[in-house]
Formats: sequence, C-alpha cells, structure tokens
Amino acid sequence: MGQKVVLRERIVDESPRDDLIRRERFPHIWCPGCGLGTVLKCYVEAIAASNIPPDKHVIVSGIGCTGRIAGYVRLDSYHVTHGRPIAFAEGMKIVRPDLEVTVISGDGDLVTIGGNHFIHAVRRNVDINVFLVNNFIYGMTGNQMGSTTPLGAKSSTSPYGCPEPPFNLPLLAAALGAPFVARWTTLHVRQLADAMKRAMNVKGFAFIEIISPCPVGFGSYNDLRDGRDYIKLFLENCIVDHSADLNKVGITLKPGEPIILGNFIDREAPTYHDLELEVFKKAGWLK
Ligand code: SF4
Repeated sequence: MGQKVVLRERIVDESPRDDLIRRERFPHIWCPGCGLGTVLKCYVEAIAASNIPPDKHVIVSGIGCTGRIAGYVRLDSYHVTHGRPIAFAEGMKIVRPDLEVTVISGDGDLVTIGGNHFIHAVRRNVDINVFLVNNFIYGMTGNQMGSTTPLGAKSSTSPYGCPEPPFNLPLLAAALGAPFVARWTTLHVRQLADAMKRAMNVKGFAFIEIISPCPVGFGSYNDLRDGRDYIKLFLENCIVDHSADLNKVGITLKPGEPIILGNFIDREAPTYHDLELEVFKKAGWLK
C-alpha cells in the first residue's frame, strides 16, 4: 500500500506537461491497456507545438471514456451531453472565431448518437478539429455495438456478431468536403501528434479517426483482451498509404484485411465563417 502511494506521487511529480495537464485529477479512470492516455499525450504535445497560445485552445467532449480527456487538460474544457459536442463546438467557433476549438470524443458519441451533427458540421466546413477515438464500441455505457462496430464483431448487444456494416469514416468526411482527413492508431504516436498539430493549423473542418484499444470492452468480446493483443494487431495489420482510395479503407478487422492509415486529405475550401462574412457584406451589415 505504502509503495503504491509513493509510486503515484512520483508519477504525479514528474509529469512533463504540468502546464497543460491537470495532474491533481490523476490517477485517471482508464483501464490498463486502454489507448486513451496516449491520445491525451498526443493532444498536449500537439498543443505545445501548435504555435497557438494555450489560452486560445478550447476542448469539447461528450459522454464516454474518451470524453474524460477534457477533464484532464488545463484548458477551457466543456463536457457536454451525449452526442452533442460537435453542435456545441460549432456554436462556440461561430461566436468566437479566434478560438482553436477541438472536439475529442468517442465513436459512439460523435457518429452514432451524434451522427447528424457530424455530417452537417463537415458539410458546412466549420473551422473546428474533430479527433474521434474509435474503439468500435460504446465503452463506458455498456459495450453495446454502434455505427463503427465491424460486421460480425461481438458486443453486449450483438452476442452472435454485429449484423450491420460500419461507417467508413474517412470516406464519409472526405465525401462531405472536409479539408483535412486522417487516420492513425494509438501505436503511431508521432504520426498522430503531428496530424493533430497539422489539424490545428488547417482552416476548416479537420478530422482524425484514432483507432484505439479497448481491451476491457470491445476486446473482451473479440479476443483482444490485453493491450498487447492490440499492439500485435496494429503492428501486423496497419499499412500507411497517404494516397489510398478512400472507398477501400473501411475497417473489417478480418485476418488479412489491413487497417489503412495516413493523412489522406489536406486541401483548402471556404469555411462557414468565410461564407457567412460574404452574406453579411452583401446584406450591408459589414463594410
Ligand atoms: S472501457 Fe475501454 S475505452 Fe473505456 S477506459 Fe476501459 S479500455 Fe478504455
């Protein structure tokens, strides 16, 4: 017991990003082998490298294990209702375009419950970053299948296998016009932090799908019960192809079918804010 306390104190005292992490909130809630600590680390490193002052960064998250990231960063943080962080972030960015608004939340939150907000925010090209952590399941709320659960994968609500095909999220975001679209796993730490930094400097909707282990939830139903099982899966199955045909990057998790990663799209497009200003000028509200 005494050793555990000393260990916790040592870890807390040695946090290399004291300026950006609320270390007084540690230990965190995440399970052993979870990828969310890595996502948090990449996010704070990207902020530190972004050349945007921390007091201009704002994080919005929804309900779920991923949503807890907002509580661990020393930023203005908003933890909102299930499925609604993108709608909340859109409103904030429209009212305060000087802020760097980032949504970090899970697949269940952002594209299952919140799918409608996702598609319309991309279509409008609101200048926000959406870092979606995909662990293929609703983790915190009961391990139910969702819109990213691969066909045939098991969950608490699909014990005989998911009967629905999942979203191909990079294809969806690209088809709706997102200026920046990427996918990395939590094993690809440097690439993920670099993609986050790039997303923060992109004008318009920047989307990163982050494939992340959930050994306690999804993994327990699908023979990935340990963080090391996921590392093996990522090492053996991931292929980096920045110019991949996005029609072919859907994830199946079937043996021999790769998980394709990369910074797929990086382009310019008028943002919602640009178009809104044009309308205001035409209406005579602005000079
Ligand atoms: S349930 Fe899954 S996603 Fe949630 S903390 Fe545990 S391992 Fe991570």
